[in-house]
Amino acid sequence: MASLEDLIPTVNKLQDVIYDAGIDTLDLPVLAVIGSQSSGKSSILETLVGKDFLPRGTGIVTRRPLILQLVNLPVDSPLINNYVEPQTASQSLSQNLGEEWGEGRSSEHYSRLNSKDKSSTVSDQWGEFLHMPGRRFYDFDQIKQEIENETARIAGKNKGISRIPINLKIYSPHVLNLTLIDLPGITKVPIGEQPADIEKQIRNLILEYVAKPNCIMLAVCPANIDLVNSESLKLAREVDPQGKRTIGVITKLDLMDSGTNALDILSGKVYPLKLGFVGVVNRSQQDIQEKRSIDDSLLREEEYFAKHPFYRTISTRCGTKFLAKKLNQVLLAHIREKLPDIKARLNTLIGQTEQELASYGDCSATTQENKAALILQMMNRFATNFVSSIEGTSSDISTKELCGGARIYYIYNNIFGNSLNSINPTSNLSVSDIRTAIRNSTGPRPSLFVPELAFDLLVKPQIKLLQDPALRCVELVYEELMKICHNCGTPALARYPKLQSRLIEVVSDLLRERLGPTRSYVESLIDIHRAFINTNHPGFLSATEAMADIVETRKKKLEVASRAADLKRKRKDADGSSSAMSEAKNGISPRIDSDSTMATSDTESDDEKDTKQSKDSFLNYFFGKDQRKGEQLSDMGDKKSIATDNYFSEVPEYLQMEALQIREASGEQGNAEHPELTEKEELECELIKRLIVSYFGIVREMIQDQIPKAVMCFLVNFCKEEVQNRLVSRLYKETLFEELLMEDQNLAQDRAKCLKILDTYRKASLIIGDIL
Ligand code: GDP
Ligand code: MG
Repeated sequence: MASLEDLIPTVNKLQDVIYDAGIDTLDLPVLAVIGSQSSGKSSILETLVGKDFLPRGTGIVTRRPLILQLVNLPVDSPLINNYVEPQTASQSLSQNLGEEWGEGRSSEHYSRLNSKDKSSTVSDQWGEFLHMPGRRFYDFDQIKQEIENETARIAGKNKGISRIPINLKIYSPHVLNLTLIDLPGITKVPIGEQPADIEKQIRNLILEYVAKPNCIMLAVCPANIDLVNSESLKLAREVDPQGKRTIGVITKLDLMDSGTNALDILSGKVYPLKLGFVGVVNRSQQDIQEKRSIDDSLLREEEYFAKHPFYRTISTRCGTKFLAKKLNQVLLAHIREKLPDIKARLNTLIGQTEQELASYGDCSATTQENKAALILQMMNRFATNFVSSIEGTSSDISTKELCGGARIYYIYNNIFGNSLNSINPTSNLSVSDIRTAIRNSTGPRPSLFVPELAFDLLVKPQIKLLQDPALRCVELVYEELMKICHNCGTPALARYPKLQSRLIEVVSDLLRERLGPTRSYVESLIDIHRAFINTNHPGFLSATEAMADIVETRKKKLEVASRAADLKRKRKDADGSSSAMSEAKNGISPRIDSDSTMATSDTESDDEKDTKQSKDSFLNYFFGKDQRKGEQLSDMGDKKSIATDNYFSEVPEYLQMEALQIREASGEQGNAEHPELTEKEELECELIKRLIVSYFGIVREMIQDQIPKAVMCFLVNFCKEEVQNRLVSRLYKETLFEELLMEDQNLAQDRAKCLKILDTYRKASLIIGDIL
């Protein structure tokens, strides 16, 4: 069979692998026939395709470009049998609008048909027109008819031409995926409806197709016309000056004047073309009318050359069969030219795909030992990641946010620390609370003493204020550990979602388990601090110090007040009314102007100073808190017992007196803030508040120190040390291996897909290697 069929297996194989590999199509060249009217262009195309379907004849027959797409169908293609004739062309046209032309026809729509009914008409080859989507032409005479009709529809009935192409696809197992273009013939003289510039129009139309470097031209020259006048060769030279993609085809050799021959032309002596000339004998008009078959005419052509007195010697290089062979060579050369690029591309793809495949890991864990090793390995990795995240030695530490161990320290130092510091230990204590506590604890006795019981009563609930922040600290660390445990996976582990979720579950369980003990220890710590109020704590403010502090504060307050009064008085003096405030001035000013730390006046005698000093030191022993003072106190005989018995013994009377005196001096009438309190009560309240603040501060500091230690001990470190054992004891069981190593469905699919693609690439690479 003299057609391009010989190339089909190779090209199909290539096209398949290349298509599968997702590389651009092989991009075979387009084949166009050019030549003057009736030179035999359509005849050549027909014989090349091996089908009788193109309108031919004398005069201008091809009046629109025909883009003939040959589509190779595998012999077993389901497309071949799935066909139902569209009810009407217009209906099918509207149905298929927007659908790719002629493709996707294997839909259910067609498969519903009983192909047996059609068996008489269904063959494995048919044509489809773009302008009649879905309609299959099994009868090639009908195709010819439709080309004629469609030509007339656009180009008119009277010799007119149109640049609008007719698109025809021919599906067959016996064709090469190739595009052929039949073009109107070059004409000089307008006839019929042809415009005056018909020659130019046709030339431009032809150039539109053949100018593309991807186009191989069959420049058709009838042998009965002088080659020098060949329009096709002139035109071909314009776009292919080196003659690299032009094949000269000499038709109608049988019609040459007797005594002349084309031997010189065919042997390339007349006109240089790299691809050479091929002489052919097509069917004559008479043959066509007598319906001589292509096969028959091919045989005759062969015979013609073999027996011809001149062509006999070159008969193997003549004829349609040889032309087809030549075309094959040209196409193959074209393919070969492209192959190295494709091969390089394939190699890159293979490399990439191999990498991708490696990223999925292999599924080699098939034996029980393999599985055990794999599980153990991933388990250890998980545990190591957990520990190293906490310790901050993890290799992929985030730079965007605090994580792991750093976050835990942040919780301790900042979140917990700040929440402790923000507690005001007396804000929830009203003066009346304090007074009630004092009254209740002193009973019927006159409240000469600041009662320890009241302090105890009041400070204990305040310590409880530390509990919420402490428990919150535990929770935050717990949450952070949970977060860490969710981030301990590795890409390898992601392949086994079951194993991953079980690992997380076991560690979560462990963490949850530890939450209770940690919380209760923390609660205990708070309780411990509430259990005994240690007023002997070295950091605790002594009652004397507290009282001195009150005095101090009051003095300062008074100083400010008196300065204000002074200023006021001076202004009044300036106004002429000055005497009213002099009394107040005499009473207060000397004291206020004196040394601000202690109430020792400049006017005091040495004696007085001594007395005061001994009284001071006595009081310091009495209320003092350090060992040195205690030792000195031992000299004081029976007073010692009082001091050790009750921290809240009498606050030095002179201090009390002084505090009260200052207040009186300030001229305040009663207590502005708390008018219901006696001055003594107010003083006591203030004293107790200060003591609470002091004591609370001590406990707060201890709690701030102890809670993180407790959390580390009971929760963080415990889990760190236990995690590995726990994972092994819970999950390292042979009965679980199968289940744990169930692969992620998507991943398994991805890997399978990847493997398949890789296989395709490798095959393609091999095939290409063969062709190269
Ligand atoms: P086109 O106009 O270039 O497409 O030429 P056609 O293929 O339509 O052919 C024009 C006419 O010439 C037809 O009647 C053909 O039968 C006839 N013809 C083409 N080639 C040959 C040939 O090699 N020998 C003979 N005797 N007639 C031919
Ligand atoms: Mg034609």
